[in-house]
Amino acid sequence: MGETIFSKIIRKEIPAQIVFENDDILAFRDINPQAPVHILIIPKTSEIESTRDIDSKKHSQLLGSLFDAANKIAKDLGVSETGFRLILNCGPDAGQEVYHLHMHLFGGRKMNWPPG
Ligand code: AMP
Repeated sequence: MGETIFSKIIRKEIPAQIVFENDDILAFRDINPQAPVHILIIPKTSEIESTRDIDSKKHSQLLGSLFDAANKIAKDLGVSETGFRLILNCGPDAGQEVYHLHMHLFGGRKMNWPPG
């Protein structure tokens, strides 16, 4: 399923600034950061292209692990207490560019609401 640029990052065929990795998850700095801290947290499996492919019966453990990773990364990078934003873009209107599930973690600056 879904070969994307993130598949190459997972296989270490192209470089990335990795901030967290375990058997199921990889997290690395966004190449075009929109905040002082901008991390992408992704499952290593490419079977989920978007949030609309999530099936809680199959993916609940993986999703829990994504949030565990986000909380750890926020702590490690010093934004846990100041606050951070987690974003999952789904489909064209949300501006999804890469069809491999990914969670954006933004932090390190005050953010506006609603987002643009
Ligand atoms: P989205 O618009 O939610 O699909 O987000 C995709 C994100 O992937 C964008 O913020 C891009 O800047 C980021 N991105 C694309 N290619 C790379 C790469 N090679 N390394 C790190 N981040 C990337």
